[in-house]
Amino acid sequence: MKSVRHFFKSFLFFELLLGLRLTGRYLFRRKFTVQYPDEKTPMSPRFRGLHALRRYPNGEERCIACKLCEAVCPALAITIHSEEREDGTRRTSRYDIDLFKCIFCGFCEEACPVDSIVETHIFEYHFENRGEQIMTKDKLLAIGDRFEKEIAEARAIDAPYR
Ligand code: SF4
Ligand code: SF4
Repeated sequence: MKSVRHFFKSFLFFELLLGLRLTGRYLFRRKFTVQYPDEKTPMSPRFRGLHALRRYPNGEERCIACKLCEAVCPALAITIHSEEREDGTRRTSRYDIDLFKCIFCGFCEEACPVDSIVETHIFEYHFENRGEQIMTKDKLLAIGDRFEKEIAEARAIDAPYR
């Protein structure tokens, strides 16, 4: 009896009609699909994306090579070398973040005493060649220079939570 019922259900496309009924039910309802990249969903001001190294308004690097970010990073993604400059200050000679190791936890920016390393809202990036996932100091400073206004505004909004 069961196999006869199954035969007629298949023969009359019963399951197909059930599926079409469901499609018809949602056909004229409000759509939730977002047409990315033309449309984007709202983003939290606390979203953690691509890293950046910031400068002071006079162009001086904020980073003082204290290595707190390197020490706190749970993924061991940060590599810092430092040296003393002629004026006696200490600065990084190498600052790399391996984005394949990074888990975007935000510990580095929370540990930084001078607001130098930050995570931006940038999430649209890709790599095409081996090694491009290493964000060097030059790359990080370039991102910081390019998005400084946005970074400063985001951190002002975020201030009550910090
Ligand atoms: S976000 Fe977290 S995992 Fe990534 S570099 Fe910073 S501390 Fe390391
Ligand atoms: S980015 Fe901040 S925490 Fe990391 S070495 Fe520089 S000053 Fe220290």
